[in-house]
Amino acid sequence: MTGRSFSSVQLQSFVSCLFAFAALHLVACEKLIHPSLEPFAAYQLIPPAAIIKEGLNARFFGATTIQIDDGETTILIDGFFSRPGLPQLLFTNIEPNEARIGAALEKVSKPAAVLVAHSHYDHAMDAAVVAQRTGAVLYGTNSTANIGNGYSKWTEKRIEIPKHGEVRHFRRFSVQFLESPHSPDFWFSGEITHPLKSPVSVSDYREGRNFSFVLRHQLGTILIHPSANYSPCLFKDVKADVVFLSIGLLGKQSEAFAREYWQHVVRATGAKLVIPIHWDDLTRPLDKPLLPMPYLVDDFNAAMEFVLGMAKADGIHVRLMPLFEPINVMDTIKQLSELHHAGQPEVLKNR
Ligand SMILES: [Zn+2]
Repeated sequence: MTGRSFSSVQLQSFVSCLFAFAALHLVACEKLIHPSLEPFAAYQLIPPAAIIKEGLNARFFGATTIQIDDGETTILIDGFFSRPGLPQLLFTNIEPNEARIGAALEKVSKPAAVLVAHSHYDHAMDAAVVAQRTGAVLYGTNSTANIGNGYSKWTEKRIEIPKHGEVRHFRRFSVQFLESPHSPDFWFSGEITHPLKSPVSVSDYREGRNFSFVLRHQLGTILIHPSANYSPCLFKDVKADVVFLSIGLLGKQSEAFAREYWQHVVRATGAKLVIPIHWDDLTRPLDKPLLPMPYLVDDFNAAMEFVLGMAKADGIHVRLMPLFEPINVMDTIKQLSELHHAGQPEVLKNR
């Protein structure tokens, strides 16, 4: 999509950023690194709900890894569970962590499909392992397919490379794949042009192109937008009930950019609920609580304040998701709408 190539200048800037982050880890206490240690205390969380057979359910696994199911069919976005720590990212090659993937998959219903947004390690690194273990079909770009092609333990590979705009059906779900630009000024652009055999450097997980996913179901429509950038008019024919909205690096963008982002992704789709994703520190394993990205890398609070301000003006609800616990998407929207119209505090109950 971009045609850009990863340059030594970009590598230097990435490495110096990581080293600065590492130095901070060594010399500072966690409070300095993570300005908001309790994001759920400051921002409202959707309470867990029992999975309803006839409902649209979602579970969040940090970053952009989300399970969507209707009690019958499960679709997994990205499926990234390894979350290598900073020393591994800095000083070693990285590869899927089978133990962490196995532990996380105990919480995931068997997916029909793993949909991968793009081929950076924090989206695509584990997808082939997840597909191999669960029997799911892997959907992604040519670059993502090359991550699957390089995974030699996967003997019965099922990899699909949808085109922009293409729709695939999974029982009562249809999924539309829409190419959307990656968040600006990121590292490791370009394509993975050959089967990628891990362990490899984090920089070998090149972006490829980037997908957003529209999941349509008789119960509602979910837009999953895993990278914080926009294409004007991309969603002109999409009406969504909820947007899982990446706020990764949004806090470091200009307000003008953020306003356009909101306009072309949230307002354009008419969503009633925004669930921010890609906000947590990816170097922390999933057996620890989620914390926001460190300020040096991203400004979580700035992004949240922006999103909350725009949402309030537009009459849209914003909620974070709990880790692992299932929520019912349409019931959440219904409850929030009822509370809003009743003029009551919009505090969701676990029901
Ligand atoms: Zn990325």
